[in-house]
Amino acid sequence: MTFILYQLPVNTHTTMLGTSFIGYSRGLSTGPQAFAINPANGEVMEPGYAAPSSAEVEQAVSLAASAFPVYRMTSASERAKFLRAIAAEIEASVDAIAARGAAETGLPEARLRGETARTIGQLRLFATMLDDGSWLDARIETAIPDRQPIAKPDLRSMLRPLGPVAVFCASNFPLAYSVAGGDTASALAVGCPVIVKAHSSHPGTAEIVASAVVRASQACQMPEGVFSVLYGSGRDVGMTLVKHPSVKAVGFTGSFAGGRALMDAAAARPEPIPVYAEMSSINPVVMLPGILAEKSAALAEGFFQSLTMGVGQFCTNPGLLFLQDGSQQPFIDALTELIHKAAPGVMLNAGICQAYQDATSNAAKQLGVTQIASTNPPSNGQGAPMIFVCSAESFLQNPALTHEMFGPASLIVIGSLDEIAAAAEALEGQLTASIHGTSAELAANGNLLEILERRAGRIIFNGFPTGVEVCHSMVHGGPYPSTSGGRSTSVGTMAAARFARAVAWQNAPQSLLPAELQDANPLSIPRMVDGKRC
Ligand code: NAP
Repeated sequence: MTFILYQLPVNTHTTMLGTSFIGYSRGLSTGPQAFAINPANGEVMEPGYAAPSSAEVEQAVSLAASAFPVYRMTSASERAKFLRAIAAEIEASVDAIAARGAAETGLPEARLRGETARTIGQLRLFATMLDDGSWLDARIETAIPDRQPIAKPDLRSMLRPLGPVAVFCASNFPLAYSVAGGDTASALAVGCPVIVKAHSSHPGTAEIVASAVVRASQACQMPEGVFSVLYGSGRDVGMTLVKHPSVKAVGFTGSFAGGRALMDAAAARPEPIPVYAEMSSINPVVMLPGILAEKSAALAEGFFQSLTMGVGQFCTNPGLLFLQDGSQQPFIDALTELIHKAAPGVMLNAGICQAYQDATSNAAKQLGVTQIASTNPPSNGQGAPMIFVCSAESFLQNPALTHEMFGPASLIVIGSLDEIAAAAEALEGQLTASIHGTSAELAANGNLLEILERRAGRIIFNGFPTGVEVCHSMVHGGPYPSTSGGRSTSVGTMAAARFARAVAWQNAPQSLLPAELQDANPLSIPRMVDGKRC
């Protein structure tokens, strides 16, 4: 093993210590250490990251629990200021993030910079959501004391924060779904303290971002404990958080096995809590014959780009493609040419690379499946783009063909339109489903669209699933097992509602109501009053 001393680029305030962030203090460095490994060359990076002791984990949760009563009462504008301060601190650290992030994940620096920009954008979007106030879903029904046969009470409701949230960082989004990513931003926005379980693949990136959040938190005079980051393993530190009575919700992105373990642990608590887990999805794509006849080469190019972007390590990677029998050959020929020439790419870590090799070897062994592979063999740590082809009949008979191959691999299933509809019906819940067709074809395939809508959180017309817009109307969620539930999104401002619950005040005096529900509407937020939006 070669150890390298990681040098932070100039222009950063972060000293790499390799210890957890427990409120405004740092943990001790005496626990078992884990090191980031550069997946491109196997180099082990300093510093070692010490697992926190049980007492340190308890301290982080206890600080979060005592911060909650103070933090939940901060005003929306104070929290918006806090989110904007975090964004500014991360922006100031972008060079350090890009350098360390690229070394830890094998992703290009340009991707890390882009993802940092998305992370900053997300934080600012949640700040604008707070400025606007409509996320609260404030509702007022005024009293009708003389209503017959019984008086109608004055009832006012809005969303209130749940309490401390445990956030598990994603391996494949070291920024946008990690320390200060979408789960953290949405929980902090609504008034919940956050305890992050860092991902073991990118601990240094986590440390740089965590330092930025802590600086912002101190500058905004947020209560200590509003934010902590813990290193250590999921099964130990992560599970302790999920089972802790003071933790009230969980955000997670990762494997089905990991997400399901957290869901089961949360459900088995004396007080069960919600786990918002984004797990596995193969994101089916359908290409109808008319559009294939018009532009098979362009569709092959678009599919290839979507499949290989980020070495296929996106939750929205298109892992399944349905083509109608008789229409497929020009498309498959064009795609085969692209796959043959494709360069393998460095995968996020050795475990993910091994899982990709296992999943693709398993797919190649299935009955009735043929394989189209890159002619460029992958080196250590790399994944090569790959396509598998089978009939709809084989697909329908073999559930193994629906398993996620996390990486740049996809299965093409060929059959009649009826078989494609039956195969879509048989799929488990998905984050996305995409359909390509001419206007006439789309109009004529209402049945298929209806099936896709029941199976997925987002339906994409004449496009590909990778590239998730962060905005007010995005749904990045889907029926189980793509997520733990499918009634929420983890991307976009609708994600905030996951960490809040509705509370109603009945016949409350004006002075005891939150400002958002007072008659005078001092914060000028949008509300529903007696059934009318105003
Ligand atoms: P992961 O293994 O699920 O790990 C994610 C986080 O959860 C890590 O912090 C991990 O802790 C923790 N964890 C995992 N299993 C746990 C358990 N049983 N109890 C408590 N905590 C647990 O995911 P990953 O490391 O990101 O990638 C592994 C595989 O997940 C990939 O090969 C891919 O198949 C899948 N994946 C899918 C998506 C998607 O969006 N569809 C995204 C990422 C990964 P440690 O730090 O101790 O490992």
